[in-house]
Amino acid sequence: MVVSGSKRRQLGGALSAVPGQLSRNLLGSVKGAMRSFPQDGGCLCGDLRYSLGEDPVTLYACHCTGCQRQTGSSFALSMIVRRTALRLVQGQAREFSVKLADGRTKGGFFCNRCVTKLWGDSRIANLAVLDPGTLDDTSWVRPVGHIWTHSAQSWVKFEADVLVYSGAPREEGVLALVRAWKAGTQPP
Ligand SMILES: [Zn+2]
Ligand SMILES: [Zn+2]
Repeated sequence: MVVSGSKRRQLGGALSAVPGQLSRNLLGSVKGAMRSFPQDGGCLCGDLRYSLGEDPVTLYACHCTGCQRQTGSSFALSMIVRRTALRLVQGQAREFSVKLADGRTKGGFFCNRCVTKLWGDSRIANLAVLDPGTLDDTSWVRPVGHIWTHSAQSWVKFEADVLVYSGAPREEGVLALVRAWKAGTQPP
């Protein structure tokens, strides 16, 4: 389950195919934090502790079947953060990487003891996808959008003021998610 260095480099090669403009726009959007940072978090058993040093790029819910299966739940909350903003301050995380049937690769870091996943790889280099339920304070964790809603479980309802995408959002959709987060549509 632990991936080798060469596997990681292969993943890095795939990420480089993402347009540079999108990557630059996302990285440029993290200025102007709305909340106080760092925010701390950790795994269920407490072996792993981390610190998030700055405001995320955006936060959305993913209803893809991969996220449903991985979480064993109805959707995953995906908090997009700069990789450099995440710092493991205690413990040693294990790494995983799996290829999905639809060709996507999902990988990330988890606790070897309690199996809590803390964050995963992003399609875009230099970004990571934090599982925000692992933060100590989740009072500010509210998604500004929902993606892959065509596979959402039938009981899930979407609020009128959030962005909704039936599949993966295209570049303009991603930028809309970033703007919505930056606009601070979350309650204080
Ligand atoms: Zn743990
Ligand atoms: Zn997903």
